[in-house]
Amino acid sequence: MKTIRLKPGKERSLQRQHPWVFDGAIARGGADAGETVRVESHEGAFLAWGAFSPTSRIRVRAWSFDEAQRIDAAFLRGRLARAIALRSCLGIDSNGLRLVHGESDGLPGLIVDRYGDTLVAQFTACGVERWKDAIADGLLALTGCERLYERSDTSSRKLDGLPEATGWLRGGGATAFELVEHGWRLGLDIALGHKTGYYLDQRDSRQVCFEYTRRLGFAQVLNCFSYTGGFTVAALAGGAGHVTSIDSSGPALEQAAANVALNGFEASRATFLDADVNASLRQFLSEGRPFDAIVLDPPKLAPTAAHAERAARAYKDLNRLAFKLLQPGGVLFTFSCSGGIGVELFHKIVASAGLDAGVDGAILQRLGGASDHPMTLTFPEGEYLKGLVVMKAAG
Ligand code: SAH
Repeated sequence: MKTIRLKPGKERSLQRQHPWVFDGAIARGGADAGETVRVESHEGAFLAWGAFSPTSRIRVRAWSFDEAQRIDAAFLRGRLARAIALRSCLGIDSNGLRLVHGESDGLPGLIVDRYGDTLVAQFTACGVERWKDAIADGLLALTGCERLYERSDTSSRKLDGLPEATGWLRGGGATAFELVEHGWRLGLDIALGHKTGYYLDQRDSRQVCFEYTRRLGFAQVLNCFSYTGGFTVAALAGGAGHVTSIDSSGPALEQAAANVALNGFEASRATFLDADVNASLRQFLSEGRPFDAIVLDPPKLAPTAAHAERAARAYKDLNRLAFKLLQPGGVLFTFSCSGGIGVELFHKIVASAGLDAGVDGAILQRLGGASDHPMTLTFPEGEYLKGLVVMKAAG
């Protein structure tokens, strides 16, 4: 067993059971990609078992803080079973569910979503890459699913020196799927869609958007960064007069239009724009075209805290434009999925966007990721998705 010795004083984070060891904390030691290592303090005390990543700044991801624990297929199966058991107590009424959410489920670098009887997995770090077969077998045995598709085409894999990998790991067949969420039908494709095919983390917020639309009867809704139209369908189901959806992905918009039809909504109630959101918001502003509700769900603009400052400016600008476009009394559903932007900073960004737009607003509700994307006490980075529902003051 290879040992990683930390620099003096660098043991605190592992003692608090945070699972990451950065390269700068290591005094000596190394191993092959994904190999299990023993991490010790400078004084030689055991801290954790972890998986070594030779190229990533996150050089070790901890598997366990228990010295007696063996890291093997049975250990991984136990962690998978724990993650799956957690979901069964959440009462989520959907055929699409996140089963494993990486570090927050004690499985660093592993994402698994379940779509009906099909599993889709992302292996984004060396440790889970090395144990891929054991994980695949464990997942099938624990869920009874017969098909597992791999979507290891995330940029974070590059940081771990791993090439992209996609395709069936177990079983095979068609990759199209019909998700049923809150009773809405949402077509997706696990091979062609973003991430594992869908943004399951926004499930609860789409329901919130539906409920506000039903109560307030928005005539004109603008769904920015719409992807396949989850919020579009939510607003239409809530009775919105018309929804304009903007995304820069043509295939996503085609799926969005198909999803509107799939739910039986008249095509005349929806418009789809293949465009840049920022440019579109400016154009609507110059045309003097207001909206009663706006959804702003941009992609991850700040993956880490190092990107926060630049991203903060981009978020602020989007929110400022949205506030200007809203009717008095209109509602903004605004989100950030950037791990590098905390809840408090996001609140500040939205507040200063309002100030710049010359509007005040009431924060009606705070939003976060759906409960199958859990957060743990020891891994605050798990709280990546946050949102606010803000009503623009009426005068
Ligand atoms: N709200 C969606 C998820 C949005 S993900 C849902 O509930 O499913 C972010 C989306 O932003 C992606 O679909 C991506 O194609 C799109 N996107 C990224 N940059 C963009 C830009 N500059 N203008 C328009 N769309 C953009």
